[in-house]
Amino acid sequence: MNVFRDSRPEPAAAREARPRPAAGLRARLAELRGPGVPPRPLDARALAALAANPGCRRRALLDGAGVDKAALARALGSPAPFGQSQFAIARGHSFEARVKADGGAELIRLAAEHLGGGTEAPEPGAAATPDLSAAGPQGRAARTALALREAAARGGWTLLDHPMLALDVAGSPAYLEPDAVVVRPDGVWSVIEIKSFPMIDGTADTAKVGAAARQSAVYALALEQVAEQVARHTPEGAEHAPRVGDRALLVCPKDFSNLPAAAPVDLRKQLATTRRQLARLTRVDELAAALPEDTTFDLRLADDGKTATRPAEELAEAVESVGAAYAPECLAACELAFHCRGRAREAGLVESLGRGVRGELGGLRTVGEVLAAASGNGERTPPDPASTYATDADPAAEALRRAAALRAEALAAASAPVPAQAPAPREEAECR
Ligand code: SF4
Repeated sequence: MNVFRDSRPEPAAAREARPRPAAGLRARLAELRGPGVPPRPLDARALAALAANPGCRRRALLDGAGVDKAALARALGSPAPFGQSQFAIARGHSFEARVKADGGAELIRLAAEHLGGGTEAPEPGAAATPDLSAAGPQGRAARTALALREAAARGGWTLLDHPMLALDVAGSPAYLEPDAVVVRPDGVWSVIEIKSFPMIDGTADTAKVGAAARQSAVYALALEQVAEQVARHTPEGAEHAPRVGDRALLVCPKDFSNLPAAAPVDLRKQLATTRRQLARLTRVDELAAALPEDTTFDLRLADDGKTATRPAEELAEAVESVGAAYAPECLAACELAFHCRGRAREAGLVESLGRGVRGELGGLRTVGEVLAAASGNGERTPPDPASTYATDADPAAEALRRAAALRAEALAAASAPVPAQAPAPREEAECR
């Protein structure tokens, strides 16, 4: 460990790069988690999922406060089966260690080959691999910002192994740890994602590559914030002004072996989408301020540190005090999905049928309203003040009535008795 660096005051660029929530907000978020409960760090996977559902205030608040949503879901009686198997985690770690052996020489060679734009890979051991160790995520984020600044000033190749990046998400800091970041001699910073799924004949599972691209885009956004700070301290016209690459390097095992294969992943679309979605999130301080004063998601853990002692009804009430935007996609992305789905079904909300159906139904908000609209005179659920549905002129209601009439016609035709058919005359003469 570089003791000299650790003893130096934190540089201005690193200080500026660090998001700082107000002390009042920090205290309120700590109250929401419960006394002594440490915040659960947001990872890029969770952030990508959050960005995919920016209308969900519940998730934004719980993630912003660092609440352990998996533990909360268990305490609510609706656990979600999430996470990788221990075997997959161990295999991933061993592959990553292999790829990063010898000072990351193989990783830098792959980066030069796929992202280098004609730049030669350095001799083994010639790339800088700064020590990024420091106390706590804030210290590590500051150390990473300093290392990136030094790399920009020095030029040449630099590999940052597990850097820590800070990203402001809805007014609350999130600390993110990509597998690696490589700094090229031309001043371009690129994200490297190391995954344990195989790349067979240069191609990997599309869904997994898409998920890796969304994660990498989150890291690239966090890197952009550091690059902006570093650029402010870079003299004008400097040769190596920092720039974040819009391609990440995906490294996977080659054809089920333990050897690495790599491919560049274009992040432009994911960057634009994630940037826009994160900007749409309601600020955590606004969400926290709108809660009833004594709301908390504290599980009141027993002495074993695992068993929640708080009644599930009380917790459910706290959770329901923040609005949700359930969609079936939540089942693959959020630990609270079974709880939110149960509540959406209980309330008969059309959201549980999927975003496509929800969009088609316009102002109709519940299954009861849909059935009433289809029958034209059925019982209607009490109108929701937020609902725009009410009039018979609603095009969705009109379409439903037509569909119901067509269905009734088809059923009537199918159940009508089939007229008896006269037996066909036998054509004996011709056969002879
Ligand atoms: S499961 Fe619930 S909390 Fe999670 S994103 Fe969906 S609606 Fe929001």
